[in-house]
Amino acid sequence: MLLKFLGTGTSQGIPVIGSHHPVCLSTNQKDKRLRTSALVTSDSGKKILIDCGPDFRQQMLTNIEEQIDAVLITHEHNDHIIGLDDLRPLIFKNKSSMPIYCNSRVAVEIKDRFPYAFSEQKYPGAPSFDLYEIEKEFKLFEEVEVQPIDIIHSEINILGFKFKDLAYITDASKIDDKEKEKLKNLDFFIINCLRKTEPHHSHFILPQVLALVDELKPKKTYLIHISHHLGFHDEVENELPENVHLAFDGLEIEF
Ligand SMILES: [Zn+2]
Ligand SMILES: [Zn+2]
Repeated sequence: MLLKFLGTGTSQGIPVIGSHHPVCLSTNQKDKRLRTSALVTSDSGKKILIDCGPDFRQQMLTNIEEQIDAVLITHEHNDHIIGLDDLRPLIFKNKSSMPIYCNSRVAVEIKDRFPYAFSEQKYPGAPSFDLYEIEKEFKLFEEVEVQPIDIIHSEINILGFKFKDLAYITDASKIDDKEKEKLKNLDFFIINCLRKTEPHHSHFILPQVLALVDELKPKKTYLIHISHHLGFHDEVENELPENVHLAFDGLEIEF
C-alpha cells in the first residue's frame, strides 16, 4: 500500500495569509504546507482519502489524482471536512454517491453542514454522500482493514486510523493507555506536532510527541499538522532524533 501526504500544515496552512514570519516567507517548497490530509492507495488501486479540508481541490490537481473511492474523516473541524463539496466531479464521474466513514457525532455534523448532499429533491449538481458510522475495525472493498483509534482532541473524541502497521493520527492532544496498546511497535507512526515549546490545549507539541515516540517505539515517525512556529523544515529535520521526520506535502511512503 501507499500513503501520500496531500497536506501537512495546521488549520491556517503555511504560509499564513499576511504573515511575515521567516518560515512563511521561506522559498523551500517543503516549508509550504497545505491543510493536513492524506491519500492511501490499496494494493488493487483503490484510493482512500483521509480528511477533506479547504485545500482538497488544489491537492488533487497538484498531485494529478483523479479518483477517490472512499473518505475517512477524523473529525468535524473545518480544516478536515470543508472540502467535501469539491468531491462533486468524482461523484459525478464514478458513482452516484461518495461513501464517507466517521464517528456518529461527525456524521450529524456533516449532515448539518452539507444538508443539500442528503436532500430527497436534489438541486441539480449537488453532491451525494453516504455516511457510515464506525466504531470498530472494518474492511473497505473487502481488501483494506481499517482499525479506528480513539483519540482525544481537547474536549472531543476523534478518530485516528490504523492500516496494517501504519497509524495515522492528527489533532491529538492525548491518547489513552488502552488505545496506545494498538500503537506499539508500528512500522510507521504518523502524528500531529504543532510547534516546539509553547503548549497548546488541543494539539501535541514536539516534547510530547518525542515522549510518545519513546514510549511506543515505532520504527519510523512522521510529523503532520505543523504550524510555522515549529520552524524551517530543513533545520527541524536535522534536530530530530533518528527515525523521526517531518512529513512534507507530496511525500509518499510505502507500507
Ligand atoms: Zn486540524
Ligand atoms: Zn481539530
